[in-house]
Amino acid sequence: MRLLIANGYVIDPSQNINTGGKSLLLEDGRVVGVLNRGDEPADVEVFDATGLLVAPGFIDMHVHLREPGQEYKETIASGAAAAVAGGWTTICAMPNTDPVNDSPAVTRFVIEQGQRAGLANVFPIGALTKGSAGKELAEMGEMKHAGIVAVSDDGRPVANSEMMRRAMEYATGFDLTVIDHCQEPALSKNGVMHEGRWSLILGLKGMPAAAEEVDATRDCVLAKLTKARVHLAHVSTRGALDAVRRAKELGLQVSCEVAPHHWTLTDEAVSEYDTNTKMSPPLRSSDHVGALLEGLRDGTVDAIATDHAPHHADEKALEFDQAPFGITGLETAVGLGFDLVHQGVIDLERLVALCSTNPARIFGLAERGTLRQGAWGDVTILDPNFEWTFDVARSKSKSRNTPFDGRKLKGAAVATIVAGRVVYLHPEFERINERKHGEVSVQ
Ligand SMILES: [Zn+2]
Repeated sequence: MRLLIANGYVIDPSQNINTGGKSLLLEDGRVVGVLNRGDEPADVEVFDATGLLVAPGFIDMHVHLREPGQEYKETIASGAAAAVAGGWTTICAMPNTDPVNDSPAVTRFVIEQGQRAGLANVFPIGALTKGSAGKELAEMGEMKHAGIVAVSDDGRPVANSEMMRRAMEYATGFDLTVIDHCQEPALSKNGVMHEGRWSLILGLKGMPAAAEEVDATRDCVLAKLTKARVHLAHVSTRGALDAVRRAKELGLQVSCEVAPHHWTLTDEAVSEYDTNTKMSPPLRSSDHVGALLEGLRDGTVDAIATDHAPHHADEKALEFDQAPFGITGLETAVGLGFDLVHQGVIDLERLVALCSTNPARIFGLAERGTLRQGAWGDVTILDPNFEWTFDVARSKSKSRNTPFDGRKLKGAAVATIVAGRVVYLHPEFERINERKHGEVSVQ
């Protein structure tokens, strides 16, 4: 089975390719190569990518799929459907399900459900500690053998620094990246939003930026001690980014991701008590948002991840104090990523690196995040200039908890290809394809 993605603008940071008029040939699920005009074979199925951006498949390092245990919020199949509609060819599932993914049996279940859905690649992340309770290390070796790509107690920050040290040492033995949700539990206890002017005005208990900054700094210190590969999830504060910047200057294996809501919204968005503005870490003040944009620009931030966290409408209908943390994000992240390009914060190549090349490198996914010959044929095809409005009623997710319903966006994934197979085609693809810009440009 051969597929030629013809005449696109190909960006592949892993090979320093950033040029128009190229074709990408896939065969039997793998990349054959990026071809020049005239070198295309005949007798192949052709996908016309004129005027479109062709990139290595996007990898979301941080999603919550709720299965097993809370299938009323999301299943692996519904999460994977939302993922491919948002342009993600691979999603990495956090272990805070019920039961927690702290065993090879749960790891295998997640992988099998992902394969059954047949949409995005679903790669599980294993728990750092048994039950993510922070008391005893989980069986990382057995889970690695079963298919996990990293370890984390995301959602349940590891309070005990000794435990975190041991976890980093243990994970290093299995060549696994440790992901930490940085939030010192004592400092952030009972908080429901960012501690600052708006928490005072609204009379809500705040979580200080210091809670994240303390843990981020600790993790960087422990990365130095253990030489572990450490990845800080959904960084939202200036201090945490400064810690990552210093760690990189020291040559430590520390990386970080940011989530679109954290650079898009500030804590002022909480002022209507909309529970779709409640997440952990919380929306921050504009000074922190400015620091995130700077980190996206200067290379301190390695990846864009959604922290897709579906919840049922009944749960989010509770009072702000009582509602669960988290929002969905798989279908809006790429559009919000293009905002950064249109605003001149980053260029298209950097966007591709943040969504694909870098996540693959951080998790050691050697045959993903690249269009090199022999790599998996995972491809995201995008129109940087397609204008659209996000309508949550049409979301593929089972949940509707997003602050971005009705948001106008410019730039979208128009086709998602996994192992050489088109698993998503934008419903308006014909119209997009007719317009044929001829050249990919950011207008
Ligand atoms: Zn988290």
